[in-house]
Amino acid sequence: MVVMKFGGTSVGSAKAMQRTAELIKSTNAERGEVVVVASAMGTKPAKVTDLLLQGAYAAAVGDAGACGRAAETLREVHLEVIEGLLSPEGERQQELAENARFIDRFEDLCRAVLVLGELTPRALDAISAMGEQMSVRILAAYLRQVGQPAEAIDASELIVTDANFQAATPHAQETARQTTQRLLPLLATGTTPVVTGFIGATAEGTITTLGRGGSDFSAAILGRALEADEVWIWTDVDGVMTADPLLVPEARTISRLTYREVAELAYYGAKVLHPKTIRPCMEGAIPLRIKNTFNPEHAGTVIVLDNGAATNGMKAVTAIEALSLLTVEGKGMMGVPGIAARTFGAVAERQVNVLLITQASSEQSICFAVSASTRETVVGALEQEFAAELARRDIDRIWAMHPVSIVTVVGAGMRGTPGIAGRIFGALGSENVNIIAIAQGSSECSISLVVDGADTQRAVRYVHAML
Ligand code: ADP
Ligand code: ASP
Ligand code: MG
Repeated sequence: MVVMKFGGTSVGSAKAMQRTAELIKSTNAERGEVVVVASAMGTKPAKVTDLLLQGAYAAAVGDAGACGRAAETLREVHLEVIEGLLSPEGERQQELAENARFIDRFEDLCRAVLVLGELTPRALDAISAMGEQMSVRILAAYLRQVGQPAEAIDASELIVTDANFQAATPHAQETARQTTQRLLPLLATGTTPVVTGFIGATAEGTITTLGRGGSDFSAAILGRALEADEVWIWTDVDGVMTADPLLVPEARTISRLTYREVAELAYYGAKVLHPKTIRPCMEGAIPLRIKNTFNPEHAGTVIVLDNGAATNGMKAVTAIEALSLLTVEGKGMMGVPGIAARTFGAVAERQVNVLLITQASSEQSICFAVSASTRETVVGALEQEFAAELARRDIDRIWAMHPVSIVTVVGAGMRGTPGIAGRIFGALGSENVNIIAIAQGSSECSISLVVDGADTQRAVRYVHAML
């Protein structure tokens, strides 16, 4: 059994959907059992999920005009694909009507938000889930038209999550039970389930979402629940590359990576794979493949447990932008236990995610990186937490540097290869890129550098040239 996930661009136009359907049909013929997971339509930059969210946020600030425009664009985008794909003798009318009902509902929800003047995380998830709900219905109808029995399924029937809207966590056991109960009978009759990526539901049935870019995670969750043989992520590039090809045009595909390496890459900004995708696959020892819908002959990347003898050190470089580096600094911090615990406790209380931590003992400071949008919240929280220490001058200052980026070099083979950090610093130094902070995990699978936001692209390119 293969779980195949198709990203936004793979379902972003009538032509893309046709390619996607061909891939589903041929894999189905070869492998027998295919479960499809699809994202919302997303021909970049006009992604359907973005349009839905824009409409919702516009409603929250009372901008009815912008909501209407979002609805209009959504109608046009879907209409074009439905008319380009489905024949008038077949399911076209039915599909047009069904799609119109979703967009009407989107407008109803936006109106409700407008009237209430409040956009709850729960409403946000109900609204942003609609992109996937629309795309899977179109794709399933087209599959049926080309002779592949298929059924569109909302993952709210399969994936049971907590109620942490916008970043819900699945419950593995309930999900496995519901997924096998619902999908195995379909597969047994040769029907391909076409499941919405990105969404789940609480035990009470309220729709949740798994976080932006979360359709990859959906595929892994279903793969694990079904004990699939493989999970394939179909996207718009030839697999995981040595850098984001948008940033580094000469980036190359990496044919094999370990779960660990790809986890570091995904966590540190390589958008090609959602970071939460790796854990279910790793736990189920399910090989993960990343392939290009628009170049299916290319082998892409396969993610495996261990690729034996680690080779040639550095494999890929990635970056996360728009961050702030917070520093808590003071001579009176030396030898005082609990400062780090209180620092990160205060940050965690504000629900802020910390991406990287370094501590310099000589200057008695703790540095950590957070999303730039949270910096005021974080500085405020720390000033409150350490009010007494600030008054006594045990802590001299708490400050934020921004915007900064984290540039991360990944490769399991860096372990035991001396001098890699030195080479990276040397290369960046000679190009006048200032390194603000450094962090290296004890696994030595990655080295992260904090650089000024303006230096991001240069830093990524110089490091890439060394790979
Ligand atoms: P999908 O809609 O298929 O999920 P995404 O846009 O989420 O596609 O992810 C694919 C994109 O990830 C590529 O178009 C590429 O620009 C970007 N990307 C970032 N880093 C990497 C990398 N190291 N290798 C490949 N692609 C990358
Ligand atoms: N459609 C969702 C998003 O844009 C999920 C995904 O594409 O993976 O975030
Ligand atoms: Mg994606």
